[in-house]
Amino acid sequence: MASEIRRGRREASEIGRGRREASEIGRGRREASEIGRGRREASEIGRGRREASERGQRVGERLGEGGERRARLGEGGERRAREGREWEREDEREFDYGEKSEKGPKMWGKLKKEWEACNNGEMQSPIDMSHERVRIIQKPDKRHYKLCNATVKNRGHDISLQWHGDAGSVLINGTNYPLQQAHWHSPSEHTVNGRRYDMEMHMVHLNENATNKIVVIEVLYKIGKPDRFLSKLIRNISSMIDKKDEVKNAGMIDPREIKIGSRKYYRYMGSLTVPPCTEGVIWTINKKVRTVSRAQVKMLREAVHDYAERNGRPLQPKNKRPIYLMAPDDTA
Ligand SMILES: [Zn+2]
Repeated sequence: MASEIRRGRREASEIGRGRREASEIGRGRREASEIGRGRREASEIGRGRREASERGQRVGERLGEGGERRARLGEGGERRAREGREWEREDEREFDYGEKSEKGPKMWGKLKKEWEACNNGEMQSPIDMSHERVRIIQKPDKRHYKLCNATVKNRGHDISLQWHGDAGSVLINGTNYPLQQAHWHSPSEHTVNGRRYDMEMHMVHLNENATNKIVVIEVLYKIGKPDRFLSKLIRNISSMIDKKDEVKNAGMIDPREIKIGSRKYYRYMGSLTVPPCTEGVIWTINKKVRTVSRAQVKMLREAVHDYAERNGRPLQPKNKRPIYLMAPDDTA
């Protein structure tokens, strides 16, 4: 009963901010403005600290008539200025992946009220894909993607590819979910029968009017031949190493070139794997594991900030959620 009330409350508050969260994830609009605000705040803090340390230096110079004393205070001022700069960098990080970090995955839900679900959600992602049930389906998901203009963005915690305009959609149980963006995690976040892979890509789809607004189609990769889709983006990605919020025009990018290569997939209900960890996400984990080269994984890791070089969230409790292996019935 208590847990039902809790769930009811949580759901109500989720519905309340549903639209806002949806556009936040799908178009990165709110996320971008939050990051913007975060950076503004960080730079204000940085400015505050710089001003403080400049004041310190001025005071030091005024007071320090004896050479030794002035040197000591001057040094302190310099040190404070240096720390100020470090803090500025530090503050720009909203969350990170350090196991013991105070902004690490175990703390996400405590960093912001809107991120609560990261800690107290009951259907969080990722989880291990060890299915108990196989569902033979007559109406598999249908993907209809289109060539569309896109940009590559360094979001600090990952590299994302954002389509601008109609990149097509996926049809799931009669509901159409337009494709918004794709991004990469390494190592993989989901595991299959306990095995963690080298990389996973998330294709994020959004329908703000649907009950479950977000669909993520996921592709797993192990080290092997280069991934041809990623090869196309190499120049853009390698030009934004460690440059948070850097955006590059990638030109026309065809989502159909993302090789999925399997009609079998796992299906379960989960959440976003980064804050705000919004639940009600329909997950599609393709069974076929594809390949990526070591150099490509290295490039993706170098491009993001140090705190997200390994940007895979740890496994979350399954809480008796069903996981289905969907096997399309071709004879239907
Ligand atoms: Zn993701």
